[in-house]
Amino acid sequence: MSGDPENELAAVISSAQELLRWEKALGGAGFPLPEAVPPLQAPLGVSAAPGSDPDTNGRLQLLSDAAAECTRCELHRGRSKSVFARGTPDTDLVFVGEGPGFHEDQQGLPFVGRAGQLLDRMIAAMGYDRDGVYICNVVKCRPPDNRTPLPTEATACAHFLVPQLELVQPKAIVALGRCAAENLSCVPPAGRWRGIWGEWRGIPVMPTYHPAFLLRSPQFKKPVWEDLQEVLRLLNREAPNR
Ligand code: URA
Repeated sequence: MSGDPENELAAVISSAQELLRWEKALGGAGFPLPEAVPPLQAPLGVSAAPGSDPDTNGRLQLLSDAAAECTRCELHRGRSKSVFARGTPDTDLVFVGEGPGFHEDQQGLPFVGRAGQLLDRMIAAMGYDRDGVYICNVVKCRPPDNRTPLPTEATACAHFLVPQLELVQPKAIVALGRCAAENLSCVPPAGRWRGIWGEWRGIPVMPTYHPAFLLRSPQFKKPVWEDLQEVLRLLNREAPNR
């Protein structure tokens, strides 16, 4: 702040307007209304954007095929479909969640349930198309009763997550929830973890709350929006005026 009361007032008004736009983008002050999930594109939910590297796409496809057959941990026993990714690898921004839930396991795509609809609104509020980012999870098979993946399961699935992120090489990663933040080594040993920049193999990581948590606790939408604005600043982008 400048110390000049007029400038300070202008800054407060501008940040309040930003927040209102964000609230509106997420469906008002309450819960966002569930909407029909838009039709899916490619079978794996990953679209090769024009101009994207065919080699990267081919390698990601191989990894995805291998994940569909994987028996590295016990989670494979309960899966209907493995859930590799959706969006485009030709992007500067990746979101990493925890693991597939019921709808994701049925469709073979990440974040297609209620939490996914909220994530789509967050992505739109940042000024990206739903399919203009890359979305994946720490584990590719649904944990029973949607429990948090065990460390052994996350370690087994790092076999896919590590090359996946290295192939996409985004400029920033948003870790959705503590599980994703921990598995990207971005939770400090003590104190707050949300909103504190970390780094995974040279890529900046912003850990923030998971959209499923926001559905239960919408009062935390504001700090999440602040985290996403930090990400936009890093990427030299601005949230659109809606
Ligand atoms: N929650 C996650 O962490 N990932 C999904 O794909 C869906 C819900």
